[in-house]
Amino acid sequence: MANTQNIQDAFQKYGIDGWSSGYFGVSSRGTVQVHPFGDEEVSIDLAKIIELAAERRIQTPMILRFPQILDTQLSRLHSAFRNSMEEFKYAGDLRCVFPYKVNQRKEFIDALVKSGRKHAYGLEVGTKAELFAALSYELHPDALMVCNGFKDSHYIELAFEAKRMGKNIVLVIEGTDELKFIIEYSKQVGFCVDIGLRAKLYTKGSGLWEKSSGTESKFGLSSVEMMEALWLIEEAGLKDHLAMVHYHIGSQITEIKRVKNAMKEASRVYSKIYKNGFKLRYLNIGGGIGVDYDGSKTSFYASANYTLQEFANDVVYLIQEVCQSENCPPPTIVSESGRAVAAYHAVLVTDVREVEKMGGDIQEVTLDETDHKLLRDMMNVYTQMNSKNYVEFYHDSIEYRDELFTLFGLGYLSIEARAKAEVIVNEIANKALHYHALSGVQLEEFEELAKSRTSKYLANFSIFQSIPDSWSIEQLFPVMPLTRLNERTSKTGVIMDITCDSDGCLDKFVDKRDVKPSLELHVPQSDTPYYIGFFLVGAYQEALGNNHNLFGAVNELIIQVSNDSQVEHVEEVKGEDVGELLRVMNYTDEGILSGYLQQLNKRVEGGKLSTADAEQIVSKVKGYFSEYPYLLVKSRLEIIG
Ligand SMILES: *Cc1c(COP(=O)(O)O)cnc(C)c1O
Repeated sequence: MANTQNIQDAFQKYGIDGWSSGYFGVSSRGTVQVHPFGDEEVSIDLAKIIELAAERRIQTPMILRFPQILDTQLSRLHSAFRNSMEEFKYAGDLRCVFPYKVNQRKEFIDALVKSGRKHAYGLEVGTKAELFAALSYELHPDALMVCNGFKDSHYIELAFEAKRMGKNIVLVIEGTDELKFIIEYSKQVGFCVDIGLRAKLYTKGSGLWEKSSGTESKFGLSSVEMMEALWLIEEAGLKDHLAMVHYHIGSQITEIKRVKNAMKEASRVYSKIYKNGFKLRYLNIGGGIGVDYDGSKTSFYASANYTLQEFANDVVYLIQEVCQSENCPPPTIVSESGRAVAAYHAVLVTDVREVEKMGGDIQEVTLDETDHKLLRDMMNVYTQMNSKNYVEFYHDSIEYRDELFTLFGLGYLSIEARAKAEVIVNEIANKALHYHALSGVQLEEFEELAKSRTSKYLANFSIFQSIPDSWSIEQLFPVMPLTRLNERTSKTGVIMDITCDSDGCLDKFVDKRDVKPSLELHVPQSDTPYYIGFFLVGAYQEALGNNHNLFGAVNELIIQVSNDSQVEHVEEVKGEDVGELLRVMNYTDEGILSGYLQQLNKRVEGGKLSTADAEQIVSKVKGYFSEYPYLLVKSRLEIIG
């Protein structure tokens, strides 16, 4: 009974139903389960996967990648649009593309391309480098390759080569200079790729990426530029090559109202251009479908107030309505949403240890006449504090503390006395918080104090490498323990990473109503690793992660699950080792080794070190080139137990 109650509590505490989209749940043993097909019929226990990783000596932190979640999410996206098209009897077609910048990892793109084939799913690129990589994949013959971003001659020439390779390439122009080059080049080579125009819409997105749109945006053509582009295309005799109107009002659009307004405006732009005799075929609605990271289903920045189906319904309905009123045939709809496709498929797993906060056992603090008077006064504050005087006594203790630390700074106090002071101050704060909680009043000072005293959990990972958005834009990701969810939690804590950067601390957690300053956690047992997972990290995090403090890409397991809920296939990809990280920073292995050798030789020549010892040091340090930069963890595992 207690067991199921605790599991229900876990669902509440971590808001699992809100953000999981059917992909994550909790087993009766209190472990996190993954449902790769988005329903409970098939599941795999994350504890089992961690065991499997341990057997293979794969260390945390690690990314668990589930290509089947990606596949399911891709099908959900396409079905949402197909359902709407059927419901509204939409006569146009659908061709979605994946924006490369959302996750360029080869393992990810390989899986995406494979799953995308049945949907004629294409790719969207924003740079030369992305186009170069994307062209190496053989997609469905009907799939689109949409080229956005600012382009130079080499970018454009590569797109022309792509056309000769048989790709359905569309060069979406950001400015008239690009267009002029395309026109010139097409004359030179005697053929032309399809062209798209990125419209600068008056309608803005919502949420953090509002700046991607509106008349001030750095992207797209204003109406004046659009007129000029149309004139240039017509004059060059390329009218039949203008195939697409594109817009993108920003990522993570939180309000459906913005989606609708943009849709109406863009459909008008499309229809008007069509009526001017251009044979447009595609209306590219950009990306921006939101992921409900906090599960609140609101217009909060980490959420979205609509479902995928509502989004598709509004898009299809509005395009249809505008095109009918303009007597323009309905276009093939192109969606470039990436976040919603990629976010769910990856889970970051790491182990955490609780870091004892300052303090110690008050019972062990004994004071006598030889101790400083301030210490004894402070002890009196502690013993005599009660529900009536706690505010005043707490303030007194702060004063004593400050005086004591000043004395220490001036050299009048021993380190033992300083340690005693820390213990007493800590206990006074505990006692004051206890009386404050009983009082029922809410004094800001004590609320702040309580917050500052939540436990600190040290997690073996780098926020900058693995969830950079939580540092740079305060993006929220769901976090929870992966085991012991059938046990009550007894602590609340914040999560610190192992970088030497005070920004490497997570103190905002998803909550249905608000943002939580700390997370409910268990007390880790000393002999068993305590694992936590960061969810919905499959979009942007791997692409934006950086090597702050020389923490590189983490280990990775790619997991396929069979229909009878067994691990069907696992593939491992090793994270970056110290040598690789240093090479990126221009070090060479030889250079580093010769640095060691020169110094050691000097010691040997000076008679301070034996040749044998020097050789031993060299052979040991060589091993560090292939070292995993994160903390080594004990591999003992008794988690399912
Ligand atoms: C980034 C980007 C996208 C993807 O946006 P999501 O929010 O990930 O769906 C699509 N199109 C363009 C032009 C982009 O720049």
